[in-house]
Amino acid sequence: MQPKLLIATSNPGKIKEIEAILSPLNLKITTPKDLDLNLRVAETGTTYLENALLKARAYHQAAGLPVLSDDSGLEVDALDGAPGLHSARFSPKENANDADRRAYLLEKLSDKTQPWYAHFHCTAVLLLSSDNYTKKVGRCQGWIIPKERGNTGFGYDPVFYIPEYGATMAELGPDIKNKISHRAKALIALMPAIIRLIELNEPN
Ligand code: IMP
Repeated sequence: MQPKLLIATSNPGKIKEIEAILSPLNLKITTPKDLDLNLRVAETGTTYLENALLKARAYHQAAGLPVLSDDSGLEVDALDGAPGLHSARFSPKENANDADRRAYLLEKLSDKTQPWYAHFHCTAVLLLSSDNYTKKVGRCQGWIIPKERGNTGFGYDPVFYIPEYGATMAELGPDIKNKISHRAKALIALMPAIIRLIELNEPN
């Protein structure tokens, strides 16, 4: 039987990417929606790892399944690393969406000298029980551009330019993004631990 792995997020963009990256593995990816779980986990940690563990432990407690949790963010040099941990909430507007957050980012950068170097960070955690977890990180380097380009991906992808590809993350499309992104790097590094989980479930 395929082991179940619960993804500790309701962000549709993240879910799609995690499912694609882990698709070669013999694993049943379960989402909070599949289990009718609607948790609101306050991301009060002071590091990506603390936030990833807050989410992982809350979902593990609710569902009793192994959990994969990802905490990620965009860090812009000219903004001293902001929005960073606050990437998902980086806007003065109430109920802001991804487009509002991109607009706010560009507004914040408007008086800063270009190029606006930046990187995405991802800390991914595989949690088997409350204190038994494996953590891996991934980074993706680039810079922010003042005009949006591309329409795939999510979040800050349309303004995140990757010089090696001459394209924004939103122009790359999922096949390339899911090989080179911060999330892809963290999840690929986590794969040996996920494979051990699969092997533990296999009959002798
Ligand atoms: P969190 O990990 O749920 O705290 O949210 C991370 C936030 O960082 C997302 O809501 C996006 O705004 C941003 N982010 C993380 N990964 C990506 C990505 O792959 N592309 C674009 N934005 C991202």
